[in-house]
Amino acid sequence: MERYDVIIIGSGPAGLGAAFHLIRNRSSLRILMLEKEKVSTGGLRNDCKMNFTFPIGFPLENWSRDQADHYLEKVIGDLKPDILEKHNLSTYFRRAENLGVELLDIRQTHLGTDGGLRLIKQLTAELEELGVEIRLETEMTGIDPVQKTITAGNQEIGYENLIIAPGRKGFRFLQSVMDRIDVSYIDHIVDIGIRIETRIENYPIVKDYYDPKFLFPGKVRTFCTNSGAAHVVREKYLTASGKPYYSVNGHAFSGEREANGLVNFAMLKTVTFTEPLASGQEFAENLGLQAMLMGGGKPIMQRVGDFRLGKRSKAETFNGDLYDFNPTQPNCTPGDISLSMPAKILRSIWKSMKALDTIIPGVLHPGTIMYYPEIKLYANKPKFLNGNFMAHPNVYFAGDGAGTSRGITAAWASGVRAAEGITG
Ligand SMILES: Cc1cc2nc3c(=O)[nH]c(=O)nc-3n(C[C@H](O)[C@H](O)[C@H](O)COP(=O)(O)OP(=O)(O)OC[C@H]3O[C@@H](n4cnc5c(N)ncnc54)[C@H](O)[C@@H]3O)c2cc1C
Repeated sequence: MERYDVIIIGSGPAGLGAAFHLIRNRSSLRILMLEKEKVSTGGLRNDCKMNFTFPIGFPLENWSRDQADHYLEKVIGDLKPDILEKHNLSTYFRRAENLGVELLDIRQTHLGTDGGLRLIKQLTAELEELGVEIRLETEMTGIDPVQKTITAGNQEIGYENLIIAPGRKGFRFLQSVMDRIDVSYIDHIVDIGIRIETRIENYPIVKDYYDPKFLFPGKVRTFCTNSGAAHVVREKYLTASGKPYYSVNGHAFSGEREANGLVNFAMLKTVTFTEPLASGQEFAENLGLQAMLMGGGKPIMQRVGDFRLGKRSKAETFNGDLYDFNPTQPNCTPGDISLSMPAKILRSIWKSMKALDTIIPGVLHPGTIMYYPEIKLYANKPKFLNGNFMAHPNVYFAGDGAGTSRGITAAWASGVRAAEGITG
């Protein structure tokens, strides 16, 4: 049986960050990285905008500002980003403050979906050159913590140390690993919201600040803004019982592609369950299914003009002089979001959108489209044994799947932090 000093599961930013740290600090280590897809998934290959300022992407229960700043310097050293300049923001800052809204000043860079793919290829080639073995299309399916082996592609492979970084989509896989190795966890937080798509002249701030981060009262925030050659996409998920539902998302290509004059971004509300303690995953699945019911198996889209009048959108709503651009994600059903979204979440989001329209007048143009649902699972929160995200002797978790990050740069940082548990 093959045996490695370290096996890393997942080639997303968490796995990559861990691999670079390990091989650069202990070049003699025999390292194997497994990736179940042909190429790594997640944010590195979807828009790839990276935020280099705390607290963006850093869950506060796992990171202090000092820790995040320390690791962000390492991430910057590894990824060497070209930080985007920001301009003309003082009016927005002032208007936001007057409304009790916070506009965060974040260091950002944007590679685009095509640029992200190039970065993944460059990073994995670099790792292979340094001696890390990478096996694509190889999925880890089981673990024996006593023998210190994993099952992958019908093969048993031995490890001295294991770093598991399967991302948000690996939610269920990680739960199965935690059940097998007796790690306790909870899952009680979820983000629910909508994706807005409008003309860039209705949201001109993006010309000066690529992904503006607004925090509104009521735990609502703007998230993942895309402009240039920007598109709304659908992601398919399966419930525990195998039923499909979609969450919308957004991305943009790099500046090399022709701009389409549109911008999209999410408005998300964070919901935390206390008593009785509900599963965020199950809550999200139920909302996803409810949206599929109302959308005939597709996400729902509604023009702001119709929403304001209390009317559902129809196919005809997407014509006419006020409705002057076509949705970039036409594979949605014109409908009524308020029939699907819980009232408390909808009220908070609409209130925040009105505040946003006061800060940036125009975003609530009647033609603006609201897509629903956009769901962000907060992942499982495992009980860790130490500050390096060790969950079981010689088994570390990293990245979004384990709740140690919520974005590319923090995922990379969490991979480095887990790897330091091995290198000391
Ligand atoms: C559409 C989309 C757009 C996004 N855009 C951005 C953005 O612009 N900026 C940003 O900061 N964040 C963005 N994010 C979030 C970002 O993707 C994550 O924060 C980040 O990728 C998490 O890194 P990770 O390494 O934990 O997981 P991932 O990047 O998801 O990587 C995990 C990898 O593990 C593999 N894997 C899973 N299970 C197994 C297994 N059992 N065996 C082998 N391999 C396995 C997966 O195939 C995957 O490649 C986006 C997310 C999505 C879905």
